Amino acid sequence: MKNEKAIVIFSGGQDSTTCLFWAKERFGEVEAVTFDYGQRHRLEIECAKEIAGETGVRHHILDMSLLNQLAPNALTREDIQVEEGKDGGLPNTFVPGRNLLFLSFAGVLARQVGAKHIVTGVCQTDFSGYPDCRDIFIKSLNVTLNLAMDDTFVIHTPLMWLTKAQTWELADRLGVLEFVRNKTLTCYNGIIADGCGECPACKLRRKGLEEYLRSRKGTSHV
Ligand SMILES: [Zn+2]
Repeated sequence: MKNEKAIVIFSGGQDSTTCLFWAKERFGEVEAVTFDYGQRHRLEIECAKEIAGETGVRHHILDMSLLNQLAPNALTREDIQVEEGKDGGLPNTFVPGRNLLFLSFAGVLARQVGAKHIVTGVCQTDFSGYPDCRDIFIKSLNVTLNLAMDDTFVIHTPLMWLTKAQTWELADRLGVLEFVRNKTLTCYNGIIADGCGECPACKLRRKGLEEYLRSRKGTSHV
């Protein structure tokens, strides 16, 4: 697929940065799209810009500030704290249908820039209650996008069935483990790389990294 173009949905976090490198390995041309929805931390956008610049991909930033009107919550309002979902419920960072919107806009953009491939870092393994991260939804939307624009897009989800540890393993295989570790922002408190260490996103990220590094150590002597 070296003569084909892909567009990566890109937040500047661990998952989408790994997807960006995954796409660069496969496709002749890669562009990235970041959605600006008034993120709690403007640093996310800056971080995405920086990584796009360093990796030499054309970077689109689309204004999605209307999400603020639709879902006032911890991701978009400074005055509300991020909380984990109680009793297995959705965390209060949940913006219903967010991936549906992002992927649909990415589809329109893909059409404009002549990209057949859309890459997203959604993951069903760490499924935290977001229905539009599930594989069945992605397959359904792929059909819908193709019908909507009479086109033949392919949505790729390289992380769909990976654990956090396996996502680190993928970054390592792509030769970018240190890059992803040091340049990406996942932390809810807006601290780059290893983050604050305390928020749910940091805990998940660190747990996966430690698990992967332990397994790598275990196999390197075999
Ligand atoms: Zn954190």
